Amino acid sequence: MQERLSSNEFKEYAEKKAKHITSAKNIAPLLEHIASLPHIPSHFYSDNGIHIVAQDKTLAQKHHQTIYTLATQLKPWRKGPFFLFDTHIDSEWQSFIKWQLLAPHCNLEGKYIADVGCNNGYYMFEMFLQGEKLCKKIIGFDPSGIFKCQFDFINHFIQAPITFELLGVEDLLAYSQAHNQPFDIIFCLGVLYHRFDPMNTLKILSQSLRKGGELILDTLIYESNEEICLCPTRSYAKMSNVYFIPSISTLKGWCERANLYDFEIINLKPTTTQEQRQSAWVDSQSLGAFLNATQTRTIEGYQAPVRGYFKLKKR
Ligand code: SAH
Repeated sequence: MQERLSSNEFKEYAEKKAKHITSAKNIAPLLEHIASLPHIPSHFYSDNGIHIVAQDKTLAQKHHQTIYTLATQLKPWRKGPFFLFDTHIDSEWQSFIKWQLLAPHCNLEGKYIADVGCNNGYYMFEMFLQGEKLCKKIIGFDPSGIFKCQFDFINHFIQAPITFELLGVEDLLAYSQAHNQPFDIIFCLGVLYHRFDPMNTLKILSQSLRKGGELILDTLIYESNEEICLCPTRSYAKMSNVYFIPSISTLKGWCERANLYDFEIINLKPTTTQEQRQSAWVDSQSLGAFLNATQTRTIEGYQAPVRGYFKLKKR
């Protein structure tokens, strides 16, 4: 959606979309269950994962079984890990590895921040801590019902003033226009190669930033010096929703066409089976099963995944 809507029109649109997702995925009972969980005063910190510690350990222990059972009902936990009282939610991705790469490049204090494709909000909790609770506002966008449930579940105990919108990147510009506030920083991590229209996606991100605002982008990269892009015909590392994997020069060109400049490569590295691996908290296989024996190619025969982490500025 890209037409300019008034604040009320957008509110109505967003509510309708959230309602649709909630009923299509039948998550209303889960959301109600989460909202009815007991209040357990806690604090949280980051140490290779998000740790949530109860002030009253006996109270947390009393509710351990309920919390553990609900956490297992919220699978798949792709991003994390979370150490929620005595429950270790060992996610498929060790998300702190990505965050530790990005964090030194982000100044978040006083910033109006969007995390587009925020999943369960793992990075938003990291951002909140990194901004020393001084970020102006952090808003996550993700149209997945189960990840919204995971966010609500974790934030029920953390109680951070972070907003999660059941909206997609396609709604971002209308959101920022309706709120009359472009973003200072947008994070768009691990989303671009899932889009049919990566250039349009970059345009929406750029248009939703204020002038001089920053985009922190992470995407799969096809290693080539040419201006080309890998378009997997059926799947890439078993992911059937991967459409475009650009070379760095192609990505730079896409960004410039979207009015995003000062292209800075924060890092470029292969995804390892330390970072993404099988876990009891996802009921499916993981990266190790999607690479060949020497881990140099995907099972489809493509280059094994390499990720680029970039910082760009809107002109
Ligand atoms: N940003 C996280 C998660 C990446 S996985 C990270 O880097 O680890 C891709 C995420 O994009 C999923 O959480 C998925 O639900 C979300 N997604 C799917 N469709 C989307 C859309 N239209 N707009 C924004 N996010 C979307």
